[in-house]
Amino acid sequence: RIRLEGVSKQFGTAQVVREVDLDIADGEFMVLLGPSGCGKSTLLRLIAGLESPSSGRILLGENDITRTPPRQRDVAMVFQSYALYPHLTVAKNIGFPLRARRRSKDEIRERITTVASALGLQDHLDRRPAQLSGGQRQRVALARAMVRDPGAFLMDEPLSNLDAALRSATRTELIDLHHRLRSTFLYVTHDQVEAMTMATRIALLNNGTIEQVGTPTELYDTPRSTFVAAFLGAPP
Ligand code: ATP
Ligand code: MG
Repeated sequence: RIRLEGVSKQFGTAQVVREVDLDIADGEFMVLLGPSGCGKSTLLRLIAGLESPSSGRILLGENDITRTPPRQRDVAMVFQSYALYPHLTVAKNIGFPLRARRRSKDEIRERITTVASALGLQDHLDRRPAQLSGGQRQRVALARAMVRDPGAFLMDEPLSNLDAALRSATRTELIDLHHRLRSTFLYVTHDQVEAMTMATRIALLNNGTIEQVGTPTELYDTPRSTFVAAFLGAPP
């Protein structure tokens, strides 16, 4: 369970996240949806610990992690750009979070094998990222997030670099992966179709504040504002 309590973030004079309250239950597929620049990535980075809030609290389970360093948070992030290490093989990229935490060689090898086969990467372990397709790179980024078996996955537009056909196929795979892992997914996108098809609940963000939280059907059928209705393309 992830809880945000009155979380705000300012960059200089710009208030990018404003007093956000959000409660994400274990096993949810929560989609953070909203227009470009509304603060989605910043909110995710706050939860990952890559930014610290100007005010407010972030809780993971019962623990206040507001000041916990990123590496000690039980969450894993998948970046839009994938952020793979170009000089490392696929296997080393996947194993990186475990090596950084000084796990044993045997454990690392075993985890790499397990997640690589779960994502169909077992035949590509010796390649480098430049020798992979966009879809395969995206899987490596996902495998690297999975390798630690984190309590929650934070994903920032992980499909935005894929073509339409691959995006749609990967969407289905992510839903399937969510079912298999039974883990908490917090998924950022500005694409309402993605949100409507994948989310158990959507948090719709506008200008740093949450406009509405609910199931896709709730937001579509009973939008709380014209912004929500317009963003989801629901009839007024
Ligand atoms: P997109 O859909 O385009 O990725 P977003 O919803 O993820 O947008 P953010 O990246 O969270 O938006 O940015 C929200 C606002 O905060 C933007 O106006 C952005 O310019 C600003 N911002 C983000 N990071 C910083 C930073 N490190 N310093 C100053 N301003 C920032
Ligand atoms: Mg963003």
